[in-house]
Amino acid sequence: MKTKIIVVTGGVYSSLGKGIVASSIGRILKEYGYKISMQKLDPYLNVDPGTLSPYQHGEVFVTKDGAETDLDLGHYERFVDNELSKYSSITSGRIYYEVLNQEREGKFGGKTVQVIPHITQQIQSKIKAIIKNDKPDFLIIEIGGTIGDIESLPFIEALRSFSGIYSRKNILFTHCAPLIKIEVNGEIKTKPTQYSIKNLMNLGIHPDILVLRTSEISSKEIKQKLSWTTDISMDNIFSSVDSKSIYDVPKLLFDQGIHKSIFSYFKITKKGSMGNWNKFLNTIHSEKKHKASIALVGKYTELPDAYLSVIESLKIASYSENVELKLDLINSETIDSTNYINKLKGYDGILVPGGFGERGIEGKILAAKYARENKIPYFGICLGMQVACLEFARNVLKYDDANSTEFNSKTTHKIFDIMDSELSKKLGGTLRLGNIKVDIEKNTLADKIYKSSNVEERHRHRYCFGKQYVNDFANNGFIVSGTSADGEIIEIMEMKDHPFFIGVQYHPEFQSRPLKPNPIFKLFIAKSKK
Ligand code: GLN
Repeated sequence: MKTKIIVVTGGVYSSLGKGIVASSIGRILKEYGYKISMQKLDPYLNVDPGTLSPYQHGEVFVTKDGAETDLDLGHYERFVDNELSKYSSITSGRIYYEVLNQEREGKFGGKTVQVIPHITQQIQSKIKAIIKNDKPDFLIIEIGGTIGDIESLPFIEALRSFSGIYSRKNILFTHCAPLIKIEVNGEIKTKPTQYSIKNLMNLGIHPDILVLRTSEISSKEIKQKLSWTTDISMDNIFSSVDSKSIYDVPKLLFDQGIHKSIFSYFKITKKGSMGNWNKFLNTIHSEKKHKASIALVGKYTELPDAYLSVIESLKIASYSENVELKLDLINSETIDSTNYINKLKGYDGILVPGGFGERGIEGKILAAKYARENKIPYFGICLGMQVACLEFARNVLKYDDANSTEFNSKTTHKIFDIMDSELSKKLGGTLRLGNIKVDIEKNTLADKIYKSSNVEERHRHRYCFGKQYVNDFANNGFIVSGTSADGEIIEIMEMKDHPFFIGVQYHPEFQSRPLKPNPIFKLFIAKSKK
């Protein structure tokens, strides 16, 4: 079958959860046995999200091939259980950058370079490229931003004209918009919703499906009114109501029959159910036997989206371990040697996630110290592994000035140093990114976790453990249990004589899925549960 495209747009305001709607449609179609690919078109001008502060757009999600992307790709991967790639994340910045480079190289032969057709064709080439690369049955494209924004116009125009080339019957437009409720009298107003659809129609696209963001399933009257004013059939209007968990949304839309509208549009007849997903939902909503309180010690704690995949991985592991999770985000800048015991007392597990830069480092080191000394389960991810090693070097090995050259380039004990120039050159001077194989040492905690001699995990780091310290650490009970295949890069460190103390140089949170929780998160929660 020719790849069918489902485009998801948003109206009225942002943060509507259209990423969740796009992911949910992906999940439903996956349950029907289809091969799904997802693509995010972001209107901002950064060439990629790699250098964006987590305060701007939340976490940077890394794909298997090392692309640094928008956090929505994390939702896509978790819902659809697919590994995406650089083809899935496109920004306006990248499109303009590529077109302008072609202009400088003289590829336009002196022609005037314009938004239409040059920018729009470049956008269309990205859609063709992902179809060619992934060969999905369905490609779901989410357009970032809100209809009416200046920035997203080229994307809308590119899709409008693409529907002529690719055939309108192979592209389904889904528009998400809120229903506004007047707080004082509870009255629901459809006008802003209508305007956003008319706005889209002014741009040449008449949406086929409407998903309303509401607090309750919309009444027939409201659907009728919207249908009359926008010509979207009532059968194609759905409600994405506020729900306890984002993972409820696929079932919610399925129960209203969104798949029937999609199949009828594309003239597909297929049987299926939401069996697998429903089993997962049962684990979310069942009464939990155990409890665990986890402290996530980081520095972007005001914006939990900065740790989105870590938080989702902890939740997913808790569901599968029958645990009611109490998660506190603690700002490591508020932790010092006078208060760390008080701040961390009572937690069943401590997790220090990834990060860049010196701010908040000392508080994270104290969190690792507390976990080591009090035999509290500790899980260090990337920077979280690095601080655990610095703590050990300073307080156990007594290298007082132990540091990473990221924070102090002059220290005599460079426990972590920028990766050697050969390797750095091979990587093009950037970070070590994407899926890389890790060899696991037999008879270790890592071996117990992965039950395999090697595993592929996602990476995003520049500093590496200094191999000259491996013996010092091991002789004192902090051992290497995972390395890169060539043995050059230390990937996993774990503490002997401790119930669970492990640090990994990679990001297992990028590969934890509702139906396949990452085993490190699972054991961390299992060891932390009461
Ligand atoms: N800043 C550290 C490095 O570059 C850790 C990176 C991370 O936690 N992702 O190695």
